[in-house]
Amino acid sequence: MAATGGTPGRGKKRRKKKQDRVQIVLKGLMGLVAAALIISLFAVLVQSVNKGRKFEEIKKGEHSVPGNNNESLVTPTEPPSPTPTPTEIPSPTPVPPQDPNKKRVAFSFDDGPHFELTKKFVDELNKYNGHATWFVVGNRVFDAAAEGIRYAAENGNEIAIHGWTHENYYDVSSPDVVKSELSKTAEVIKQYTGQTPRLMRPYGGRMTKEGIAACPYAVILWSCDSEDWRNKKRGDDALNQANIQKTIDNVMRTVKDGDIILMHEIYENSYQAFCVLAKTLHDQGYEFVTVTELLGDPQPGHRYVNR
Ligand SMILES: [Zn+2]
Repeated sequence: MAATGGTPGRGKKRRKKKQDRVQIVLKGLMGLVAAALIISLFAVLVQSVNKGRKFEEIKKGEHSVPGNNNESLVTPTEPPSPTPTPTEIPSPTPVPPQDPNKKRVAFSFDDGPHFELTKKFVDELNKYNGHATWFVVGNRVFDAAAEGIRYAAENGNEIAIHGWTHENYYDVSSPDVVKSELSKTAEVIKQYTGQTPRLMRPYGGRMTKEGIAACPYAVILWSCDSEDWRNKKRGDDALNQANIQKTIDNVMRTVKDGDIILMHEIYENSYQAFCVLAKTLHDQGYEFVTVTELLGDPQPGHRYVNR
């Protein structure tokens, strides 16, 4: 009896301990569930704030008028780091030696044409008898914007391909898709300017090795990045002036003979910076030539950086 009397007591204790453990586990689980709920609520909140911001940016783009304090009508997004991944692409094709008696740079303008600014850039280049290369987005070539590249072509500039849309497909899509995007853009360029383009620049500078090899155009990157798209018109005059200066400094810090300079023709601030850059570089003895003039005879299936 003593033994059997002792057993129920221990049993009770064990049951009690078991209940305690279950309670602790349950409390722990409830804690975890509560934490997960709080985290997901926070994530939803952050997402909706971001959505609100994006929507605001789109609305700003819709209502902006060039010449006012807003940026241009086109609000493209450029990837933050256009530096291509070295493993994906072959080393650049060597460029013929430069004429030692001349200092030359090739300004290159992406993402246009722009219905107002393209012409203004061309007029500025004309002041120095200069030419540049315009890597255009095919579906932006219409109406007044098309006039911009027609004017550029008439004034001795080179028109080249950036893509049919401003999207990252050169390092993800099949060669057939890439070729069709390129040829559609080449067609509108031919239609509006009479030029048959021989150069292309992939979005963000990214293109696979196979893509470059199969490309019916010379693939042109850059050697001097103005990063002008980071310094758009925003804020008060002082901040805005500081942004223009940043673009100027980005170029002047590294520019050298034979550089291909990357800019975007769709921002008022880029135009303001370009006016200063063109004057400064001209005063230093630079000539402004097209990419084809700079490289000599760039070949399809090759990638050029001209470092
Ligand atoms: Zn672009």
